[in-house]
Amino acid sequence: MRPALRPGLVPLWRDRDTIQIGVDPRRAAALTGVGAAAAVIELLDGSRDRPQVIAAATELGVPVELTERMLTLLAADGMLIDFPAATVRALPCELRQLLLPELAAASLARMDSDGGGQVLARRAAATVHIAGDGPLPAAIAQVLTSSGVSVRRAPLAAVRPPGERAELPAAALVVLTGLHPPEQVVQLLRDRIPHLAVSADEAIGIVGPLVRPGGTACLRCLDLARTDRDPAWPLILAQLGRRRPDPPARDAVLTMAVTAQAAAQVLHFVERPQLPGPAENATLELVQPGWQWRRRSWPPHPACICRASSAA
Ligand SMILES: [Zn+2]
Repeated sequence: MRPALRPGLVPLWRDRDTIQIGVDPRRAAALTGVGAAAAVIELLDGSRDRPQVIAAATELGVPVELTERMLTLLAADGMLIDFPAATVRALPCELRQLLLPELAAASLARMDSDGGGQVLARRAAATVHIAGDGPLPAAIAQVLTSSGVSVRRAPLAAVRPPGERAELPAAALVVLTGLHPPEQVVQLLRDRIPHLAVSADEAIGIVGPLVRPGGTACLRCLDLARTDRDPAWPLILAQLGRRRPDPPARDAVLTMAVTAQAAAQVLHFVERPQLPGPAENATLELVQPGWQWRRRSWPPHPACICRASSAA
């Protein structure tokens, strides 16, 4: 182990004997009785293993027992990580300055002991396909790339005959932006490929649902629920394929807000694939001019071919 202070937090003195790591009470922790062991804090940058930290502290006049007590207290408060040296070394030079803050944020958000190394590894192993045209898919691709995710902007392969599997890696997720052809949705369900719908039209941003085929509500489930409330919905939907507003009512702020929310849902899925996310069986919706994200529930529809309702 190469002990390091959890990145993203700065040590601050409350008095001569008490140190506070971090500012916000939701992240910070305070240690008392530190006085004589203050020098140990400066040694926790991940460049030394534990015996080397103790040896360096001894040279600075800090007794071994005191250094060990400090390390134990910091670890108990979640303030000590095992510095992810291999992960940091493996970062491409051109991306290092971009990804170090990602590591620090992942480390703080998850309070993992590896300093965010595993989170970044999961992002790097994932492949996200983004389908659609215009500024929204481009912006989502840019944010995800900056977060360390492999992004493909190539359009999805043409719809294949039934039974032919999609050539996508297991960790793949497809992001569908804007209007998506019904046959594409059916193909994703058939291939059991998770997908996330994203749109920003009519001054409303919608992120979701995130569909786990057969497990959570799909886009057809939502259309069936809309049809239950509005029998004319299928007719409206059919016309949308031919008639789109030009220009769309989508300003720069809405595009960026939807981009950030969509990227956050992708990261949630990629980092913790077993945990249900907030956009599953739901849409996250932002209606201008309120700028307040709201979650709208969409349970699986019992009449849908995806059969998610029997799994729910
Ligand atoms: Zn369905």
